[in-house]
Amino acid sequence: MSRILGGNAAARDLLALRDSLRIAPQVRELLSGDGQEGEVAGLGRGIGVHEEVVGLIDAAIADDAAASVGDGRVIRPGYSAELDGIREGARSARDYIAGLEARERERTGIRSLKVGYNRVFGYYIEVSKANSDLVPEDYVRRQTLVNAERYVIPEMKDYESRILAAQDRIAEVEVSLFRGICTEVGRSAAGVLSTARALARVDALRSLGEVAAANGYVRPDLNDGTTLDIEQGRHPVVETLLESGRFVPNDVRLSAEEEQVVILTGPNMAGKSTFIRQVAIIVLMAQIGSFVPARIASVGMVDRIFTRVGLQDDLTVGQSTFMVEMVETAAILNHATRRSLIVLDEIGRGTSTYDGLAIARATAEYIHNHPALGCRTLFATHYHELTRLAETLPRARNHNVLVAEEDGEIVFLHRIAPGGADRSYGVHVARLAGLPSGVIKRAWDVLAELEGTAARGGPRAEAGPMQQLSFLGPPSPVVEELLSIDPSAMTPLEAMAKLYELKERARNHP
Ligand code: ATP
Repeated sequence: MSRILGGNAAARDLLALRDSLRIAPQVRELLSGDGQEGEVAGLGRGIGVHEEVVGLIDAAIADDAAASVGDGRVIRPGYSAELDGIREGARSARDYIAGLEARERERTGIRSLKVGYNRVFGYYIEVSKANSDLVPEDYVRRQTLVNAERYVIPEMKDYESRILAAQDRIAEVEVSLFRGICTEVGRSAAGVLSTARALARVDALRSLGEVAAANGYVRPDLNDGTTLDIEQGRHPVVETLLESGRFVPNDVRLSAEEEQVVILTGPNMAGKSTFIRQVAIIVLMAQIGSFVPARIASVGMVDRIFTRVGLQDDLTVGQSTFMVEMVETAAILNHATRRSLIVLDEIGRGTSTYDGLAIARATAEYIHNHPALGCRTLFATHYHELTRLAETLPRARNHNVLVAEEDGEIVFLHRIAPGGADRSYGVHVARLAGLPSGVIKRAWDVLAELEGTAARGGPRAEAGPMQQLSFLGPPSPVVEELLSIDPSAMTPLEAMAKLYELKERARNHP
């Protein structure tokens, strides 16, 4: 319709519009006919019957209309007497030319005589030099070739100019008729667009209905509470990618009052991302009026769903992966309310372990403690240290995705259970992915070494309550020297000089 109004519609656009509008009343009838009532009937009544538009396009545009308007193959014969007349004139002139070759061969007895056309001379009659003496008087010579001569006859030229004039007229008349038709159709724009909107609505709702029926969705209970209770929820897309029955459904319970922040840990590939996204999608689907992939779902309505998922570089706008992650996290923390749902997938993994862990923990605490937030939050993380938050934050809960270990192999169960995970199985997954065995073997050694250091109280130590977890390494030489200074034994000038020196060293080697 916007092409029609903008004056750049092609004949096929009109035909497509006609075909859609022709079907629309059938959709209307299905929805508002006998036995239909309420919302469904209302939906149908939004669909208009546009008989005049359909009738006009039907009468005016040829079914096999050419792509471009102007060469006489767009307007249906019978629509315009004027155009039909000109087309008829052109056709009879063309018929004359088409029959000319046979007639002139007959008249002159020259069997090789040919009628041709070129851009310079228009139509001509070509006779080989051998037959020049058979050429009649009324032939006027126009061009001499090596073996032939080209002639014209007045009558032929007369028909030729009739064809040319007709072509020009056809172009003019067809373009003007087509414009008129578009203007006429354009007058119905408002009605047609509202039918289009009604059909779009029907289309969207029908699609939701279809997937709900095909995949066993249920009607969610939407309420004003701040709880989210999903029993046997599924991810609507991932479940269709797996063999039927292979997707493992999972429950979730979140509430602003009790189980507010769920810290979800689990090995790589266990299904953390799938789970937290599925929760967000179920809430979204419930709030757009769809049935949801779950056995039971009770959704306390959210005002917004905030997600920080997936690592996507946005190098084109000059932001690093980590910067993007932080910008998005900032937006969440600044805009979420107590009614929001926050889904965070591994925030902090774009930077060094300690920075990442520090930011992730501070973010979780902020969401939990800040009076403006306190909203339902799913927090998937690889930082097992964060499972300790459940000890200090009353509304934080740990969940993990279960795996089983059989003969050194891991089996992903994809089942979410209370409690934190203690291992990442990252090296297992790396092996499954096909990293060279040398790399895997070395990774096991390095892992054992790191875990040994951690056990002896090194930087990865996880012992002790979280408040005492120091993210700093051993004190730096500058700090050590600062601690060893006795200011009372220094003159003000010495103290000043020392201060400058330490500051300089700290700047170079923080
Ligand atoms: P990583 O920590 O490496 O990002 P992850 O724990 O986030 O991994 P997902 O990406 O969610 O893991 O899931 C990995 C794959 O496991 C999915 O592509 C899917 O095929 C399968 N999977 C996830 N959840 C389920 C489930 N509930 N039932 C069956 N298969 C699942």
